[in-house]
Amino acid sequence: MSTTWHVLGAGSLGTLWATRLARAGVPVRLILRDVGRLQAYEAAGGLTLVEHGAAQHYPVPAETPDSTEPINRLLVACKAYDAEHAVAQLAPRLAPGAELILLQNGLGSQDAVAAQAPQARCIYASSTEGAFREGDWRVVFAGHGFTWLGDASHPVAPIWLEDLSNAGIPHEWSPEILTRLWRKLALNCAINPLTVLHDCRNGGLQEHHCEVATLCGELGELLERCGQPAAAENLQQEVERVIQATAANFSSMYQDVSNQRRTEISYLLGHACKVAARHQLNLPHLNQLQQRLIARLLSLGLPSD
Ligand code: NAP
Repeated sequence: MSTTWHVLGAGSLGTLWATRLARAGVPVRLILRDVGRLQAYEAAGGLTLVEHGAAQHYPVPAETPDSTEPINRLLVACKAYDAEHAVAQLAPRLAPGAELILLQNGLGSQDAVAAQAPQARCIYASSTEGAFREGDWRVVFAGHGFTWLGDASHPVAPIWLEDLSNAGIPHEWSPEILTRLWRKLALNCAINPLTVLHDCRNGGLQEHHCEVATLCGELGELLERCGQPAAAENLQQEVERVIQATAANFSSMYQDVSNQRRTEISYLLGHACKVAARHQLNLPHLNQLQQRLIARLLSLGLPSD
């Protein structure tokens, strides 16, 4: 019998992973917030994944954090700002040698989680898959993509990657996972805040070429300073390519703001500014961008962290 995957958080990505693993016959258990959420889930009778317009139902078993079964493998699928607290609640259940797979966007939450579970191996993930919640327990698989996984302190790939292959989850083991996460963070910092501030789709930033170029310059300096020169290579060209290729899309931060949802700013632009300050690196435009974004969030009644 293969090891059970405990999936912490049955939102968009948690559902996308749990349903594909479950249909491949891999044992999966969801960990939901509390008894209230568990009762609501049990009333719905399972998760629904909508793929290519067709809905499929998966009665994946679920439990609350205070269940007692030991956890050997935990997929952390909450937002970056919830991950530390959510994992801290489970710390007493983590078996010796447990493995945590962290799906959070940005950087900063992974270190906070690792500090809560010093006995566990933490594997970082960076994914281009896209999914959104149509309602509670019902998720639409919106964008096929790819997931890179890696462990900066231990280059050997875990054997359970074959569970992902069996489940049809496209993935690759990447010893340079930190470089990937930094690169994605830099792309996010150069695009997402400006789409909120200029109230536009990604393509609207073609009219703000100079502002984007200045930010890319400062982000490149930051990446070099924090030992990630590969993440800085041709950053501006890639940012421009992404703006063009996704011109019709609204960025994830824009969508969070327009749906009155908390953003992950502290783990994206906020993290970049924090690391720059730690390195005593003066990046005036990036800092100003953070101040403008915080002011905008506060003016909309949204959390600024
Ligand atoms: P999401 O849809 O908001 O789901 C997060 C889930 O975590 C929610 O179901 C929430 O429960 C649950 N949760 C929070 N605290 C919990 C706790 N203490 N115990 C149990 N469950 C808890 O978020 P998401 O879109 O899947 O994003 C997750 C991460 O993946 C983010 O960092 C995001 O940036 C990243 N990501 C997402 C996508 C995407 O397409 N969605 C793509 C790439 C990366 P409730 O339902 O009770 O609120």
